[in-house]
Amino acid sequence: MKPPPFSYHRGRSPEHAAGLLRELGPRARVLAGGQSLLPMLNLRLAEPAHLVDLGPIPDLGFVRRERDRLVVGATARQSAVEHSADVRALVPLLAEAVEHVAHPPIRHRGTVVGSIAHASAVAELPCAALALDARLTLLSADGVRTVDAEEFFTGPFSTVARSDEIVAQVEFPVAGPGTGQAWSEFSLRRGNFPVAGAAVSLTVADGRIVDVSIAVCGVADRPVRARAAEQVLRGAVADEETVERAAAATTSGLAPRAHGDLAAHILPVSAAPVPGWAYRASVARAQVRRAVTTALTRAGGTR
Ligand SMILES: Cc1cc2nc3c(=O)[nH]c(=O)nc-3n(C[C@H](O)[C@H](O)[C@H](O)COP(=O)(O)OP(=O)(O)OC[C@H]3O[C@@H](n4cnc5c(N)ncnc54)[C@H](O)[C@@H]3O)c2cc1C
Repeated sequence: MKPPPFSYHRGRSPEHAAGLLRELGPRARVLAGGQSLLPMLNLRLAEPAHLVDLGPIPDLGFVRRERDRLVVGATARQSAVEHSADVRALVPLLAEAVEHVAHPPIRHRGTVVGSIAHASAVAELPCAALALDARLTLLSADGVRTVDAEEFFTGPFSTVARSDEIVAQVEFPVAGPGTGQAWSEFSLRRGNFPVAGAAVSLTVADGRIVDVSIAVCGVADRPVRARAAEQVLRGAVADEETVERAAAATTSGLAPRAHGDLAAHILPVSAAPVPGWAYRASVARAQVRRAVTTALTRAGGTR
């Protein structure tokens, strides 16, 4: 199928792109790697009148350390982040999560920021961004504002970003000493979106978990923090029984929406049957158990 007609605009700078979005109005969309947007156009799931391409903007594909943050620019490719030794050393969860996104040719075109801006409830990078307490910089013709990942996601494919804003960069805190991070997911085939996945970052000191952050995808209409699981682990000496209790608490307070199971509806087109919520919740609990166990080992924890 061919995409509906649209006009194409090359961004010259982030400010120029933001100016175009304002001028062209709400039927204009940002184009980054095109790995989600172009299939959506071809399937007529989106019919923007204008595309504003960030690709031609010079110097927006950076991945760099700024003090205690790793900063990823809007056009940095997923493959660049995947293969960066700095990312692996500074924010290992991001490096591990990005490896699970689709396949190499897609990661070669797709951007980290584009995946977060796209806000799929089953995607790896929004979930990792949430666990990492990432901070997003939104740019519009009015100027710049920053938003924490926790406030950014508002529902399936929806965020607080206005149609005239671009996500110019995303900042991830650098992992400190004693911190272990891990991503775990189950998907029906390697490279598919996960049925459910878990992102964990925890810090161990004197044999106790002093800080922990867990996010899960696939069990709600957006990635969510597993606060009850975090609460079980925070301050605990992590033994097998505690990890088990944390995993069991993962989905407490979560339930399929009254009007249907949104996460199931937005799993990508696949010949395989869409697993139901109860199944995905049990998969999420298993991924939390695995990711916490791995993160503890990496942190030099007590397990
Ligand atoms: C076959 C296939 C399999 C895939 N499997 C997976 C998978 O397993 N896991 C996964 O997470 N993803 C998967 N993807 C999606 C892929 O990761 C995309 O690259 C990603 O979701 C979007 O990034 P992009 O740079 O391509 O953005 P685009 O497709 O260009 O844009 C996506 C959306 O985000 C908006 N957007 C993009 N960048 C910005 C910005 N800087 N500011 C504001 N809005 C912006 C666009 O307007 C659009 O609405 C798959 C894609 C394909 C084609």
